[in-house]
Amino acid sequence: TANAQTRPFEAEVKQLLQLMIHSLYSNREIFLRELVSNASDACDRLHFAALQDETLLQGDGDLQIRISVDPEARTLTIADNGIGMSEQEVVENLGTIARSGTRRFLDSLSGDQRKDAQLIGQFGVGFYSSFIVAEQVTVNTRRADEKQGVRWQSDGGGEFSIETIERAERGTEVILKLREDADEFLEPARLRHIIRRYSDHIGRPILMPAGEGEEWETVNSASALWTRGRDELKDEDYQGFYQHLSHDSEKPLAWTHNHVEGRQRYSMLLYIPARAPFDLWDRERRRGVRLYVRRVFIMDEADQLMPGWLRFVRGVIDSDDLPLNVSREILQDNRLVRSIRAGAVKKVLGLLEDMAKNRPEDYARFWEQFGAVIKEGPAEDPDNAERIAGLLRFASTRHPESQTVSLQDYVDRMQPDQKAIYYLTADNHATAMSSPHLEAFRKKDIEVLLLSDRVDEWLVAHLPEFDGKPLKSVAQADSAEEEIDSEKDAEQQAEQHKDLLERLRKALDGQASDVRVSRRLVDSPACLVSEQGGLSLNLQRLLKEAGQ
Ligand code: ADP
Ligand code: MG
Repeated sequence: TANAQTRPFEAEVKQLLQLMIHSLYSNREIFLRELVSNASDACDRLHFAALQDETLLQGDGDLQIRISVDPEARTLTIADNGIGMSEQEVVENLGTIARSGTRRFLDSLSGDQRKDAQLIGQFGVGFYSSFIVAEQVTVNTRRADEKQGVRWQSDGGGEFSIETIERAERGTEVILKLREDADEFLEPARLRHIIRRYSDHIGRPILMPAGEGEEWETVNSASALWTRGRDELKDEDYQGFYQHLSHDSEKPLAWTHNHVEGRQRYSMLLYIPARAPFDLWDRERRRGVRLYVRRVFIMDEADQLMPGWLRFVRGVIDSDDLPLNVSREILQDNRLVRSIRAGAVKKVLGLLEDMAKNRPEDYARFWEQFGAVIKEGPAEDPDNAERIAGLLRFASTRHPESQTVSLQDYVDRMQPDQKAIYYLTADNHATAMSSPHLEAFRKKDIEVLLLSDRVDEWLVAHLPEFDGKPLKSVAQADSAEEEIDSEKDAEQQAEQHKDLLERLRKALDGQASDVRVSRRLVDSPACLVSEQGGLSLNLQRLLKEAGQ
């Protein structure tokens, strides 16, 4: 048509399309999940916008997704009556501007087709997966608040075309002209199977033609899963919903599903993933669970609903009491939100405690992935510090291989007259193991926790005791002596070596605040200790590194 324009794809998008077309054919049915998920998001966004401005619905509030095929034309169409896109949005979302996910997706590719295909949804590059099965993709769309429609078209080469069109219906239809080897996606039975498998939990109806006639029928369950009773739901239902939420191809390790009634009413369905996302340590990244208010989607990654030390938890919280126009700002400081978060944290703690007790292998796996995040807990959440402490696992001189020792295990093994829970912090595990500070403790057969994660200093600074026993660094001046020496003995020794000590003090003037006789050493001649109550040496080093 007259107004059609051709534009090049951004370089990274081009690269991505090449990859979709040439290397991701195993598991290729996931394209349908991605397009359905976009259609469902578009319906949610319209529903949300219509809360402010009902005219957007133009009398058609039955938001739904329709999937149909034309065997002669070899096309598969995914249509929604959601929010639609303006011309600018089409260009930004489907074309020129490389969205941040694109680069990250490309960087994360492993070369393993199955794994790479599973990354697609996670990085927000779902739309492009159409090209795995289509030789040409056409998008016809009209935004709910605009008169003019837009058509976008591409064969997945270097460019796409864009033009304005007349379009009576609001919303978007994506028309895939299937490749020759993609016949299976013209089969209604195959499509129904894929929809049930991947998209059953989409809260909007997904319709397909019922038979030859004009009738449409709903293929998915189309009800918000978390509103159903626990006894109605099978493990597969929970796992499927998790996939839909998280785009994680691995099954979750555990979940908790509750309907809370009391001063407030809310439902929550929270999952512990089996593996850490690639951006677990990216401070900029929003995180948290999805917030719904009375079944209406409000926002993704509502970080106020989950504390930072549980940022890996995925799921949904649906409140009956929050206002529908709640914003991130309102969430910041809201009494209801605080109480929901406290309830959610308690449930997750319970879930983890249960896993630690009854499924130790899964818990070990959990700890390996997320232990370092949990260690932020006592500092961030002093109210729950005791329960969090119960979840911690460490390496120790008894079990140096991996972090498996709980504080309770340690306490149960303490020597009868042992005064404290001893730990040693170091840059890495090897340094910890060879530290001269351990000598005296080894000799006395006292177990020492070996802490070499970056967060460990921060953790022990906020965890003064466990089970009534103080936590103490072996590098603190009095630690070893307290366990080993009679004071008299130390005094005698000091007297005996008075001259030597004096000379050493002079030689180290300004560098060491004191020089003392110690019984903590067995093989090494000397070691540095920190003043009782002073900053630990390792923490001093970390602060120096951070330029403080
Ligand atoms: P993501 O869904 O993770 O953002 P996608 O590649 O799947 O990434 O989609 C890119 C963007 O294109 C979406 O964020 C949305 O803005 C837009 N989009 C895709 N499909 C639709 C649709 N059916 N209706 C409205 N907007 C859509
Ligand atoms: Mg998407």
